[in-house]
Amino acid sequence: MNTASNWLIRNASAILTGLGGGAARAVGPDIRVVGGRIAAIGTLQPETGEPLIDARDCVVYPAWVNSHHHLFQSLLKGVPEGLDQNLDAWLNAVPLRYRGAFDEHSFRLAARIGLVELLRSGCATVADHHYLYYPDMPFDGAAILFDEAQALGMRLVLCRGGATRLRDTARGRQLETLDAYLADVQRLVARYHDPAPDAYRRIVMAPTSPPYSVSPDGLRETARAARSLGIRLHSHLSETVDYLDEVQARHGMSPVAYCAEHEWLGEDVWFAHLVKLLPEEVQLLGATRTGVAHCPQSNARLGSGIADVVAMEAAGMRISLGVDGAASNEACDMLSETHAAWLLQRAKGGERALPRSAGGEHEGGAHVLKVEDVLRWGTAGGAEVLGLDAVGSLAIGQAADIAIYRLDDPRYFGLHDPAIGPIACGGRARLHTLLIGGRRVVDNDCVAGLDLAELGRQAAAAVIELQRRVGARR
Ligand code: ZN
Repeated sequence: MNTASNWLIRNASAILTGLGGGAARAVGPDIRVVGGRIAAIGTLQPETGEPLIDARDCVVYPAWVNSHHHLFQSLLKGVPEGLDQNLDAWLNAVPLRYRGAFDEHSFRLAARIGLVELLRSGCATVADHHYLYYPDMPFDGAAILFDEAQALGMRLVLCRGGATRLRDTARGRQLETLDAYLADVQRLVARYHDPAPDAYRRIVMAPTSPPYSVSPDGLRETARAARSLGIRLHSHLSETVDYLDEVQARHGMSPVAYCAEHEWLGEDVWFAHLVKLLPEEVQLLGATRTGVAHCPQSNARLGSGIADVVAMEAAGMRISLGVDGAASNEACDMLSETHAAWLLQRAKGGERALPRSAGGEHEGGAHVLKVEDVLRWGTAGGAEVLGLDAVGSLAIGQAADIAIYRLDDPRYFGLHDPAIGPIACGGRARLHTLLIGGRRVVDNDCVAGLDLAELGRQAAAAVIELQRRVGARR
């Protein structure tokens, strides 16, 4: 990894900033980085001895902020028994079936694969919702995740998952007590949590699912403990219709009302999914400025639906994008995810179109979401829900987390507006450079010191071993 943190990025074809409205595009074509921060954007002359990055024919974006992942699932892609299952059956067939099969080696390898995949898409910051916990575990997953992220120069927000009681689908698991769970969150905060706006390490209170993972009183206790520790709250919520039905039956109210009742809404809270919401739930989430991690590929792969993110933003919610785990998304990279979000929100807008004779007002949904908006969700939006205010946008004083994409593939030839290429054209644009805090962590599409072929061999061997451990292979 190149540790220099001063650069002059020159001659970019286009610069998208991650900001909204008229600030979404910077004229550039140059960006100066001094001491790991953005010092100037405009037409700039090199200073004596200043290291240069030639971004001619390249597009510059803020590095992505992925607000929901499960890195351990990176060795569970396309498991046949879960491939055509809806959420609950898939949970049993894949993550819950394999969770006990991981040891320190396979866990570390999975984390490394997921982080490298993200990194090569131009992602600098990942919030990992890590719920692989049981009493007397033989390895410390948190330490491994922070280790692996640090080795790659990435920012990691550890959302400490776990459950202190069972949902029906999870029978047979060993459970932590609430006291043990809270004690471990405290330990992690003392050891890792950095409140700085450009932190590399954060901790978040994140029981795996609010209505199921802890008792009602315990849920309120987790919210109060998080706020007294000065950390944020994150979880899954309302991914399918069954979720709505079950919470209604179990608690006599909607999932969002249940969260409100237990102090789990607000600017310091964000939820993954929110695919199925009642109109009053959207209003309540918006009024409290609660955030969402929209995971369009996982939601589509599991057949759950398409979250109405445009309506959520209109209601006042804060929007971010997450790739979710690789067990329900065989391409955990932020370029695929933003491409999918861009297409699916527009398709959803089109699904709403009615003939004018039936009261319709528009032909389709192409107007609902611009490329600049989906980029904003995946960058500054992610930073906002994570509270990392100094990352996620290209502006003076911000941390220099900068992705520079080459558009030298036929896929991009003929583009009238290069700025939209990496998102609108799909696939993975090659990375000229990825800077994180000004450090060059990807150079000419290569991660320094990483042998990708060897990583692939280790992954293949680990898949065979995991299959053997769950009895899928003898
Ligand atoms: Zn998830």
